[in-house]
Amino acid sequence: MMSASFSTVSYIGAIILFILSLGGLSNPESSRRGNFYGIIGMTLAVLATVFGPRVSTAGLPWIMAAMVVGGSIGLIAARKVKMTQMPELVALMHSLVGMAACLVGFANYIDPVASAGLSSAEKTIHEIEVYIGILIGAITFSGSVIAFGKLSAMIGGKPMLLPGRHWMNLVGLLVVIYFGGVFLHAESVSAGMMALAVMTVIALLFGIHMVMAIGGADMPVVVSMLNSYSGWAAAATGFMLNNDLLIVIGALVGSSGAILSYIMCRAMNRNFIRVIAGGFGTGGGKKSSASGDVQPAGEVVPISAVETAELLREAKNVVIVPGYGMAVAQAQHTVYEITRHLREHGVNVRFGIHPVAGRMPGHMNVLLAEAKVPYDIVMEMEEINEDFPDTDVTLVIGANDIVNPAAQENPDSPIAGMPVLEVWKSKTSIMMKRSMATGYAGVDNPLFYKENNRMLFGDAKKMLEEVFVALKS
Ligand code: NDP
Repeated sequence: MMSASFSTVSYIGAIILFILSLGGLSNPESSRRGNFYGIIGMTLAVLATVFGPRVSTAGLPWIMAAMVVGGSIGLIAARKVKMTQMPELVALMHSLVGMAACLVGFANYIDPVASAGLSSAEKTIHEIEVYIGILIGAITFSGSVIAFGKLSAMIGGKPMLLPGRHWMNLVGLLVVIYFGGVFLHAESVSAGMMALAVMTVIALLFGIHMVMAIGGADMPVVVSMLNSYSGWAAAATGFMLNNDLLIVIGALVGSSGAILSYIMCRAMNRNFIRVIAGGFGTGGGKKSSASGDVQPAGEVVPISAVETAELLREAKNVVIVPGYGMAVAQAQHTVYEITRHLREHGVNVRFGIHPVAGRMPGHMNVLLAEAKVPYDIVMEMEEINEDFPDTDVTLVIGANDIVNPAAQENPDSPIAGMPVLEVWKSKTSIMMKRSMATGYAGVDNPLFYKENNRMLFGDAKKMLEEVFVALKS
């Protein structure tokens, strides 16, 4: 077993490694290193905790058994899960952090050892930690389970807007505060448990309501926000267990998730508070094309793979805009082959990445990095948007909402005001998708009908392979 001081030193080492890890993950080039630091940091943290002074020898077999079960489930999930299911898996993981915070909170309250020897002020602080920890944990748990359902399409993307929902939330908050008072003044553990149980039920319902009320297009903000909540839930667990490492790591995850939520909100031109209050996204606008009122109309001009190859061959500047469909089709490797071929023939090829493309932050960057696309031709939306008028061909691969001109042209659209990649300004845009179906936000896309737009229907990977064959011939 480790001495207390050795365990503390290991904790400090782990904290430094986690900070280095976060720093590394902020850039695709250093992200592998960042992951590596994270793995070492976590190994150190687990070892220092399991073999630290606070775990008795009698408890070790239990911990080991739990680690084997949990580790095996994690290993199987990581090996089995497809890249397109990653966002759902992340949401599920967040729910586990929330559940852990709740369970630790209840166990901590019941355990007489946890509050033994505390002065009355210390006991009150401890109980506040338990109450807030369970509150955040329960919201994170139920919210993440619903987010999982929405991301995996088990639950529809439309926001569930209950009448008087803001009042319901307010009443819920007041009841939670009232029972907080009851909990702190409870004479016995069973009386305190009653208050805790009521608060937990309200927090669970609030988590469900909060995520159900959010429309499809605003899901990225919710995903990053739940990421942040899971961090605060972990920090709350750290307070309950008096574990400094958990507090620091929880705060790191919580604050980085909050920054990410802010970035996502800015990228989508949304007000954070209004997103959380719910009701935006699909069907949340006044009159939307999604509700069938203003259907974009006109003629759709299909194009073949061979014609696409010809256009690409003749182009000087090409921009590729990948979206969720590229992830579904696993077309990134073929995209890279085409990019390499065109670049070898003197075509300037670049990628335009929307901050919410795909189903999780950084989704497209991960796929392109996996396919070894050089980072210097992968541009952010702000960097590339002004170059579209000088672009000969823009190839939109399985993207839809992020290139929807309705965001700029139709103030009544549910995605009105969301910055989009202005692909319609290029000489020709080619949309690769299987049908005329809408994207995640469920909003019709007038781009399909623009004069300079062509539709290349079919599975992205299959069609790109055909384009590649035609390019080489
Ligand atoms: P979209 O969901 O708007 O569109 C994807 C398109 O890909 C669909 O219209 C679909 O059309 C097409 N597609 C699907 N499978 C294939 C395939 N095998 N081959 C070719 N095409 C395919 O994706 P975007 O990336 O444009 O936008 C992301 C959306 O997801 C935004 O609304 C965003 O708010 C939301 N979101 C983003 C998150 C994030 O963190 N990034 C998290 C949660 C939601 P068809 O069926 O006709 O083929």
